[in-house]
Amino acid sequence: MTVTAPAAVRATRPATEPYLPFALRVTNSVRLSTTFVRVTLAGESLVDFDYHGLDQRMSLLFLPPGTDCEAFAREPDWMAAWRSGPPSSWAPLRVYTVRAFRPEAREIDVDFALHGVGSPASRWASTAKAGDGIVMISAAPGHPITDVAWRPPADASRLLLAADETALPAAASILEALHRPARAFIEVPFPDDRLTIAGPAEITWLVRSEGERLEPVVREQLDRSAPAGTPGDVVEQEDGDVWDVPEEAAGGFYAWLAGEAGTVVSLRRHLVAERGVDRRAVAFMGYWKKGRAQPN
Ligand SMILES: Cc1cc2nc3c(=O)[nH]c(=O)nc-3n(C[C@H](O)[C@H](O)[C@H](O)COP(=O)(O)OP(=O)(O)OC[C@H]3O[C@@H](n4cnc5c(N)ncnc54)[C@H](O)[C@@H]3O)c2cc1C
Repeated sequence: MTVTAPAAVRATRPATEPYLPFALRVTNSVRLSTTFVRVTLAGESLVDFDYHGLDQRMSLLFLPPGTDCEAFAREPDWMAAWRSGPPSSWAPLRVYTVRAFRPEAREIDVDFALHGVGSPASRWASTAKAGDGIVMISAAPGHPITDVAWRPPADASRLLLAADETALPAAASILEALHRPARAFIEVPFPDDRLTIAGPAEITWLVRSEGERLEPVVREQLDRSAPAGTPGDVVEQEDGDVWDVPEEAAGGFYAWLAGEAGTVVSLRRHLVAERGVDRRAVAFMGYWKKGRAQPN
């Protein structure tokens, strides 16, 4: 994307600052299914949004209701403004995928998987209405691309994606951008959550309410199709990040695993430690941890 004249938000910041706040407003909210709501967010500040597509992630800052998001985004140091009090008072920051970006309209879509009203992002999304303000935090234009995890080798001929509902928006964006075959397994809570995904990928949907689960089905598929090599070591930290995105994947097979941390850890262990797939061929991302809020 070409970046045009600097917006006000950029003019006050050093060019080296890695993340920018974008003050946005809800322009539309559409219930896609039992679990998903698509919220459209718009703002002139998106003139500075560096869009790379695929599974590009950003963060949403859930400031207290009534906060002037435009004024917040003009703060010379948004991080200091956000963290001005004790940690318990910081507004929740949550990571989401940019499901679509329409530069001419200066708007993005975010597909939220709702999981009740007891947690900040899910609560906000379930009641979002036109006019509500929010702040998005995203990399400044021109910074190295670190917010896209899908990095298969150019010559990979076997592509596998495994995702739950939180990673469905990312998987869908990747699959729709692919012009080569891929195999995808997506677990969703309910039958109507099997959203339409364009493109040539072969998608297997697993519906939790019907007793279907991602892990056993993907394991079985891997046993049939993943390359076998020398089992490697997998070091897992009990409380550490469940995140490893190889910078330089190599070889004909590439797996992208995203969703609930326990599931992706187990699938990655199966691939690397049991089937001997090169760890550089596996991107794995724990999007959320059961029983644990996303850390700020
Ligand atoms: C790179 C990346 C991209 C992501 N993209 C998306 C996206 O496009 N759409 C999307 O919906 N999510 C996405 N997520 C996941 C989302 O950030 C988490 O689900 C987040 O925890 C939601 O915040 P919350 O405030 O609703 O819940 P939290 O306050 O973080 O968690 C509160 C409780 O809810 C549980 N919880 C969190 N998420 C779920 C869930 N989905 N189902 C059941 N229980 C849950 C937690 O375990 C915790 O017990 C993404 C995460 C990452 C890292």
